[in-house]
Amino acid sequence: EYEITDTGNTNMRVIVRVRPENESEIRSNCETIIRQLDEHVLVFDPKQDNMPQFEERGGAGGGARKRRPFLSKKHKDLRFAFDRIFDETSSQQEVFETTTKPILDGLLDGVNCSVFAYGATGAGKTYTMLGNEEEPGIMFLTTMELYRRIERLKSVKICDVAVTYLEIYNETIRDLLEPSGALAMREDGRCGLVVSGLSQHQPKSAEELLQMLADGNKNRTQHPTDANATSSRSHAVFQVYVNQRARSGGLTAEVTQGKLSLIDLAGSERATVTTNRGARMREGANINRSLLALGNCINALAANKGKLGHVPYRNSKLTRLLKDSLGGNCRTVMIANISPSGLTYEDTYNTLRYADRAKQI
Ligand code: ADP
Ligand code: MG
Repeated sequence: EYEITDTGNTNMRVIVRVRPENESEIRSNCETIIRQLDEHVLVFDPKQDNMPQFEERGGAGGGARKRRPFLSKKHKDLRFAFDRIFDETSSQQEVFETTTKPILDGLLDGVNCSVFAYGATGAGKTYTMLGNEEEPGIMFLTTMELYRRIERLKSVKICDVAVTYLEIYNETIRDLLEPSGALAMREDGRCGLVVSGLSQHQPKSAEELLQMLADGNKNRTQHPTDANATSSRSHAVFQVYVNQRARSGGLTAEVTQGKLSLIDLAGSERATVTTNRGARMREGANINRSLLALGNCINALAANKGKLGHVPYRNSKLTRLLKDSLGGNCRTVMIANISPSGLTYEDTYNTLRYADRAKQI
């Protein structure tokens, strides 16, 4: 392996998406802790008296919301600014249009692009990236838009598209589309990093792509924990490879390669929140390792502030896999998913701080 040094030309957009409160959050009648001021600014844990009163969303009776005991003493009242904030009414299409659609131009110019969904379990990562049958998410919408653009280029360019879908669970890579054993990762001098034996696919229709994404998601390793029965401890990485060459150039035409990585990260909550024991404990430690490594790369890229410097991509499978898609000449979108409820105070605070750091890249 060689020393990995960032080339300095970074490009990161940081988006926050607030999901609607779920039933138990509404039932708790706990105060919401996010006040959105405009498309770019939100206040975390606002001082009520200083804040304009937004629409009252109290439950039955519509009375004032209860504060949690630990919230009653002090308000953090922190302002955060981001490239864009989407509230709970935002549609999948809207999030797609203003986040990942613009990076497709770069992809077709041969620029590697990546989109991360970050946040605690239950914050809306999978909804944003995968979505459901009625409301497919960014993975589907982005790939379909890419197909449309390639169709438009057909008369001048020959394009090949292939997709892969893998998970990193417990620092082990598995194919989500053709499940088998653990896959090895190796550095290839010319091609960069290669996952040996990972299946490549060429979905021919929207339906086929949708089915592929849904099936792949079903193959993800998921273990119920005490905190959340559907918690997901794996990172799911959907990658789209685009190869193009000009028709006029014949067989000797130069090939432009671009890679798009769409990542549904494992829950960012601390392992200590769940009562993990034995095997789960190791899982937690490893998830922290990949997320920690990602955080450390983001910190390094932020500290370099566009200048050359060392970025510790080697410390986890996730960051090794994405080293050619994060920092350098890449375009990156980080979508930080949060709940507006005071019930998730710590998770939301941690997610906003993580996103705030990423913003400095
Ligand atoms: P995560 O993947 O971060 O653990 P999910 O995406 O599974 O969280 O979301 C948890 C629940 O909230 C799911 O039932 C999901 O359908 C719902 N949800 C999340 N975000 C939204 C949203 N923006 N609009 C409507 N429902 C959402
Ligand atoms: Mg999920």
